[in-house]
Amino acid sequence: MSAVIVSGKDLAKEKRAFIKEKVSELHTEKNIQPSLAVILVGEDPASQSYVRAKEKACEEAGINSILEKYPSSITQDELLERITHFNGDASVHGILVQLPLPDHIDELAVIEHISPGKDVDGFHPVNIGRMMIDQKSFLPCTPYGIVEMIKSLDVSISGKHVVVIGRSNIVGKPVGQLLLKEDATVTYCHSRTKDLASITKQADILIAAVGRAKLIGPEYVKDGAIVIDVGVNRLETGKLCGDVDFEAVKEKASYITPVPGGVGPMTITMLLHNTLQSAQNEACENKTFSS
Ligand code: NAP
Repeated sequence: MSAVIVSGKDLAKEKRAFIKEKVSELHTEKNIQPSLAVILVGEDPASQSYVRAKEKACEEAGINSILEKYPSSITQDELLERITHFNGDASVHGILVQLPLPDHIDELAVIEHISPGKDVDGFHPVNIGRMMIDQKSFLPCTPYGIVEMIKSLDVSISGKHVVVIGRSNIVGKPVGQLLLKEDATVTYCHSRTKDLASITKQADILIAAVGRAKLIGPEYVKDGAIVIDVGVNRLETGKLCGDVDFEAVKEKASYITPVPGGVGPMTITMLLHNTLQSAQNEACENKTFSS
């Protein structure tokens, strides 16, 4: 059996067309233009490329994007001051500080400084906490995109055994939590997990969010499993690859996401979705949650 390849690119295209329509409606009906402020610190090439992709996606969806770039010598106080500025700017609906930040800046302090109502990355502890107790919040973009991808398949999540490899705050932990909400039974694995394959082979849905090229070969995968590859790793050849040995695992899985073209495009799509949601909150008298 060869797996169906789940194109995040195609699903993202569909969802972005819908977002674009809603952005245009909001503009026509309420004269509100969704706007995202992006702060980029330093010269990290991967961060620069992610920010470029986000800017392009905003532009295509009709979302205004404001990019502020700072050298890595910026102080934490200066960075917090820029966030204070955008928190107070009613025309800005979303604030994103591209991570990672230089070592002298406390990432959590920066995330906590963003108003929860403008935290379209969904990283603020208030948003994470609200997600945990099933309250409306901005959902973190990568986990949200993964759940949307799984929901787009012709399968039910309820009762499925999901195994998540990785327990980071931005991917592993929240994706497990979101799938628990969909009535999956969730197991987390990490670097201290013993006999990883014995656990991952029980997964109906296997999510790899590790950051190790081709760590997951077919011996880790049950026949017919859905395999979601979050990893983005650069090989010595310069090519990108995931945490899953795609060619070998696709012969065993029922569905598999490629890298690139899988989870990545959905992450940016959910950022657009969250920015639109924030602007819609402004238009709505009964805000879903306040900033
Ligand atoms: P992270 O913070 O480094 O977390 C990696 C996780 O993998 C940790 O929980 C770690 O365990 C676990 N781990 C490491 N080695 C392992 C092993 N040999 N066996 C089992 N578990 C192991 O990374 P992240 O931010 O979650 O990102 C994970 C990957 O996804 C990266 O490649 C990243 O580039 C990619 N990513 C992609 C997108 C996208 O949009 N496509 C978005 C975000 C991240 P411990 O907790 O025990 O250390």
